[in-house]
Amino acid sequence: MSDAPILEATDRTTGRDALRKNIQAAMALSGAVRSTLGPKGLDKLLVDDEGRSMVTNDGITVLESAKVEHPIAHMLIAASATQDQTVRDGTTTTVLLAAEWLQNAWYLVVQGVHPATIARGYRMAESYCKEHLELLSFDASRDDIQSATMTALAGKLHKNMQSTISACAVDAADAITMQSDGKIVADPTRVKVITRSGPALEESKLITGLALPKKRAHVEMPSSLSAGSILLVDGGLELRTLSTDVQLNVTSTSVLQSFRDSEQERLLDQIKMLVDLGISLVACREGIDDSMHAHLAEAGIKAFRRVAKSDLELLARGCGARLVPSIHQANPSDVGVFISSQCERWGDVDHWILETDEGGATFVASGSTDTVVGEVERCFADALGVACRLKENPRLVTGGGAIYVALARRLRRFAETVPGREQLAIEAFADGLETIPRVLAENAGMDPIDTLLQIVSIQTTDDDDSIGLNVLTRQPENMRASNVVEPSRVVEQAISGASEATIAVLRIDDVLWAKQEISVPGDVQAQLDGTAPDRR
Ligand code: ADP
Ligand code: MG
Repeated sequence: MSDAPILEATDRTTGRDALRKNIQAAMALSGAVRSTLGPKGLDKLLVDDEGRSMVTNDGITVLESAKVEHPIAHMLIAASATQDQTVRDGTTTTVLLAAEWLQNAWYLVVQGVHPATIARGYRMAESYCKEHLELLSFDASRDDIQSATMTALAGKLHKNMQSTISACAVDAADAITMQSDGKIVADPTRVKVITRSGPALEESKLITGLALPKKRAHVEMPSSLSAGSILLVDGGLELRTLSTDVQLNVTSTSVLQSFRDSEQERLLDQIKMLVDLGISLVACREGIDDSMHAHLAEAGIKAFRRVAKSDLELLARGCGARLVPSIHQANPSDVGVFISSQCERWGDVDHWILETDEGGATFVASGSTDTVVGEVERCFADALGVACRLKENPRLVTGGGAIYVALARRLRRFAETVPGREQLAIEAFADGLETIPRVLAENAGMDPIDTLLQIVSIQTTDDDDSIGLNVLTRQPENMRASNVVEPSRVVEQAISGASEATIAVLRIDDVLWAKQEISVPGDVQAQLDGTAPDRR
């Protein structure tokens, strides 16, 4: 039976043609981020449709803001986004690996190897890499963790800022690391980030405790408190508003007065409840009635209103408190404790700083403009993500492409032991891994082929898997000695995410859509038209 009537309005590409077009899309995408890889990678200026601009060197930021319509490109962007969410680094690497593996797969398809065989070979290579990554990784000391966060920031901001931000990130990770069910947990969402545009970049700093840009409700409330109890209210301390539409017909002023008095009494009642619970600090999500301020101050209670729910939740985790819907519903078990509560004025803004037993920290991202502050904030989030993951799983591998060359060397030896056509795919996978040192060299203005050959030869003759390219000295070096190290999890996730995406693309042999041809850079097109693979 013909499928023509059903697919009338649809463009259809099948088999090899579908694969070729999909690979073109992947190559076009990797071409967009290739030049950002590594410390010598260049920045991109992104302008959105409303004219807002952003300068960034971050692969995933570039990809997510690009208006990409090709479904295959979406698959790669999704792999890169997963990389960002799970390990916070290695996003450009993921896209480059996937595109390179796809390109290498195409050369094999042209030679007559079936995509399913290639997919099988790639799977074998991926699990081999996973196993050997474990053998090639080493335990991280605290200094190594700091070096790894510096590597994650390489190429972003300037050198002094990189060390300030990575030191802040490592300290913040220390502050929030805890034991839970016998496991070490470092949850980066426990670190609050506040932004200040105006002060110099160098004023970015880490503060112990939680700082919120908040002013206490009344000046007569104590500015600083030491050790006490805190109540967090997911509501307010306000006069009640009627929830249904009713009209009050007031026939005498005394009725109105007694109505007001009873409301006042209810509010005073709540203050008494706070005093009975021994509370000296209250934070509410909603407002606090003006008439209450003086009474609260008189009772020695410091109060903050209109605190965001997310901040209340952060406070609750720090103080061991539970949010209550209203003061009437508060029990002693809902009350939390704090070590100190201070009010400080930074520039024009009042801040509330709360220190608690459970640690917690606040990073203050400063910079002259919103763009700079945004970049500082992103860099801190990346560095913190890396530091926290390393607290939980302190295993490192060497950077500067060293680990990829070491894995590729081993893979080639492994490929020789595989009798079927998968052998070719495993070799293609090894070649794909080497794209990372090649692009690092390319972006540093060095010859990619010569550099790679040099690294491979030193690794082999010295039997040293740590040799990689240090783009700062432009020399092959022992990257562990040069402190260019990265979390083993980042490399593991980049390899597995990229190979998942590659295999998913290889399995597609029929594309149905109503779209026009996608455009690809000319040199990519030339490479894809069946010429021999770029195998050194
Ligand atoms: P990604 O988005 O993949 O993390 P980056 O632009 O952050 O991309 O670059 C990361 C790569 O840069 C890693 O492979 C890392 O080893 C490498 N790198 C970092 N510092 C150096 C250095 N001094 N010399 C060579 N490579 C480096
Ligand atoms: Mg990175």
